[in-house]
Amino acid sequence: MSVVNETVLTYLPSKRKQTPSGWTAFNAPCCQHNGTTADTRQRGGLISNPDGISYHCFNCGFKASWQQGRNLSFKMRKLLQWLNAPDDIINKLALTVMQENEGVQVKAQLLEVPKFNTVPLPIDAIKISDITEWNKHNLAIAEYMASRKLTVEDTEYYWSPSLGYRDRLIIPFLYETRIVGWTARTVTSDKNPKYLSEQQPGYVFNLDEQRPQKVFAIVCEGPIDALYIDGVALLGSEVKDQQALLINRLNKDVIVVPDRDSAGSKLVEQAIDLGWGVSMPDWESDITDVGEAVQRYGRIFTLHSIASYAETSPLKIKLGAKKWFI
Ligand SMILES: [Zn+2]
Repeated sequence: MSVVNETVLTYLPSKRKQTPSGWTAFNAPCCQHNGTTADTRQRGGLISNPDGISYHCFNCGFKASWQQGRNLSFKMRKLLQWLNAPDDIINKLALTVMQENEGVQVKAQLLEVPKFNTVPLPIDAIKISDITEWNKHNLAIAEYMASRKLTVEDTEYYWSPSLGYRDRLIIPFLYETRIVGWTARTVTSDKNPKYLSEQQPGYVFNLDEQRPQKVFAIVCEGPIDALYIDGVALLGSEVKDQQALLINRLNKDVIVVPDRDSAGSKLVEQAIDLGWGVSMPDWESDITDVGEAVQRYGRIFTLHSIASYAETSPLKIKLGAKKWFI
C-alpha cells in the first residue's frame, strides 16, 4: 500500500463503518471548515485503491484525492490537517511522495529504448561472400571460418584489406537491418587484442534474428556463440538495464547460457533477478562456452541440450550453478 493511503488511514476517526461498495464511512472532518454544520451521520467516505486514495464528503461536498505519480494536493493536505495529522507528518509525507515521483521519472528516462546510430565498418571492408581476389590474409580468414564451422549463412561476415584489420574476421552489429557497430576478431594467435570493436551502449547482438515464431531467446556472452545457435549476445558478461529492456521486449522465454567462469556466475545472479531462465547443460567439464560445445557436439545437439537444461526456478538454478562453476 502507498505511504499516502497508509497515512490517511492512520488518522481516520476510530468510529467508522465499511460499506458493501468498498467505502469507509465516518463523520466527515471537513464540513465545519467549509461553512456547513459538523457531520454527525458518517457522511464522509473514503475509498482506498492500489494506485491511490479518494475522499468524498456527502455533506458539504468537499473532495480530495491522490493517485500514484502525483504530488500531494492542497486539498489532500487540508484533509489530513482536519483529521488531526500533525504538520510535520504531512510535510514529510509530501516530500516523500515528491521524491518517489522524481525517482520513477528518472528511472523511466534511463529505460527508454536505446537508439543506435549507423556506423561505418573498418575501411574498405567487403563481404566475405564478395571476395574475388584471394590472398594469404583472407585465405587465413576462410580457414579460420572453416575450422570454427562458421558459414556465410550465419550473418554477413566482412573482411578488410587495411593493415590493422586484414587478419581479422569482421562481424557486423546489425539493428533493424542497419550496421550500428562491429567486432573484428583476430584469426592469428599472436595478434592482440583478440577483438577490436565498435559498440554502442545498450546494444544486444543478433536481435534482428529473433523472429516472431521463435519461443525462446537464448542469451550468450559472445557474438559467435550467439550466431551458432541463433541466440542473442550481451557482448560481455553483464546485462545492462537497456539490454534487459531490449531482450524483454522480444516477449519470449529468455534462457541465459553463462560462460563457465566467475563472470558467468555473476550473470546467473542477474538472470535470477530479472526472472529469466538459465541453462547449464551437462557438457563435459572442459567445455567452457557455447562455442566449444558446438565444436565438440555440433550445433543441433548443443541447441537441444540448452533447451532441455533450461531452468526457471531460482533454487534449481542455484543448485545447477554449483556443478557448472567448479
Ligand atoms: Zn464535509
